[in-house]
Amino acid sequence: MDSRRFAYLKALDIDVWERRNLDDPEVVAPMAVEAAPSASLAPAVEPNVTQGLDWTGLERAIKTCTLCPLHASRTQGVFGVGNRQARWMIIGEAPGAEEDRQGEPFVGRAGQLLNSMLKAIGLAREDVFIANILKSRPPNNRDPRPEEVRACIPYLFRQIELVNPRLLLCVGRIAAQTLLDTDTTIGKLRGRVHHIVSGRPMIVTYHPAYLLRSPAEKRKVWTDLVLAMNTFERLGAEARPS
Ligand code: SF4
Repeated sequence: MDSRRFAYLKALDIDVWERRNLDDPEVVAPMAVEAAPSASLAPAVEPNVTQGLDWTGLERAIKTCTLCPLHASRTQGVFGVGNRQARWMIIGEAPGAEEDRQGEPFVGRAGQLLNSMLKAIGLAREDVFIANILKSRPPNNRDPRPEEVRACIPYLFRQIELVNPRLLLCVGRIAAQTLLDTDTTIGKLRGRVHHIVSGRPMIVTYHPAYLLRSPAEKRKVWTDLVLAMNTFERLGAEARPS
């Protein structure tokens, strides 16, 4: 482990340990549980709203979208940010107040912590593509409603198609339960490899905003990130996205 990563993990208040050979069953086997492919979350509303859209058309559609009532209270649609050819894609829940103001997902303290999590595994924010399930902020940061998710999820699926990432990292309970179409707790969704959107592997972990409230869980997140790295490397990809 290089000194920068060591320092970073210490800064995250995560126990630092040396990563061993990926073939070591003690490292990989307990966490590399393959989940049965989940039922895909079929876009139930406006299924063709994103069909054939390129990046420009998709961004325009999101910025001007009025498909659900959230458009009336948002400052702006929050499209997503990062490398549009990324091999890792980070998926969160919905814009918060600061994201709504700035028009970018994962800013503020939670965004900084996400950056730290990425840095801990050798990725910069610019290496990945970051998006949310909902593109408009729910008032008072309430949970997304099913009809809002149904209206908005085609945008995310189109983003996944366009980015074509090798791995999805899903952060937070809402995003995980939505994408896996389940009520299972995030504690039970962690620690296994899920597959969504044409069998793409997805790892679930806690949302940085939750970690700010529950810093003791950062150690679990490191375990999730190691699983994500191991899964990515098993795909035969390079450790760092181009
Ligand atoms: S949340 Fe999604 S579906 Fe609703 S208005 Fe915003 S972009 Fe449109």
